[in-house]
Amino acid sequence: MISFKGVRKSFEDGAVEVEALRGVELEVPKGQVCAVMGPSGSGKSTLLHLAAGLTPVDSGSITVAGWRLADLEASELTLLRRRTVAIVFQFFNLLPFLNVYDNIALPLRLERLPRDEEELHTRDSLALVGLEHKATAMPEELSGGELQRVAIARSIAIKPEVLLADEPTGNLDSVAGRQIMNLLRSISDERGVTTLVVTHDPVWASLCDRVVRLTDGRIVEDLGFMGGFEETG
Ligand code: ADP
Ligand code: MG
Repeated sequence: MISFKGVRKSFEDGAVEVEALRGVELEVPKGQVCAVMGPSGSGKSTLLHLAAGLTPVDSGSITVAGWRLADLEASELTLLRRRTVAIVFQFFNLLPFLNVYDNIALPLRLERLPRDEEELHTRDSLALVGLEHKATAMPEELSGGELQRVAIARSIAIKPEVLLADEPTGNLDSVAGRQIMNLLRSISDERGVTTLVVTHDPVWASLCDRVVRLTDGRIVEDLGFMGGFEETG
């Protein structure tokens, strides 16, 4: 469902070339929730950006939901992100002037779904994240954990096949963080969504099906279901 083969990516940083990814091999099968751990600067965000087609690879190839990203044009990548591959960030990126319901319905409106389908998908997503009672609340009235749940509801409203989450718990306390990880888990269980989630917390990572570790631009450890390891950054 998500496949990285020999993926390399460098960035120019002034006169210096930074090799963020140096030959990443990773296969995430359909429906799996895979945690990505690794120290700060190890290339975790780069990995997710590449999987979302936000940045091109230097070499190697990435296939997501059956699409070889290098074969797609910019407009096709935009559609892929709108319909098939959802992304959730540490900062929730909700529109402050829209209420919870309208924030979640927005991507469905972009797709011009019929009103009844829009309402069904929006209500479904709200229920899945447990926020039916907050439908008319404005973002400023919500806690950080609730905001992240709305962001996740928005990202899954369109029923994506793949969810990419970059430190979705990074701004949350441990109770809210755990709720978010449980939520990603249950979304994958209920809808078969393939999920790649960057997290720093080994306890939350242990809620995933699998944990991989990125060090020096490569996947160096595939920790399977094991927890109980050190996390440094
Ligand atoms: P992580 O998310 O694991 O902290 P990143 O993927 O953000 O790591 O970054 C990996 C490396 O690539 C770092 O050295 C970072 O400075 C560099 N990098 C990432 N994005 C850019 C960019 N747009 N321009 C220059 N360097 C970048
Ligand atoms: Mg990062």
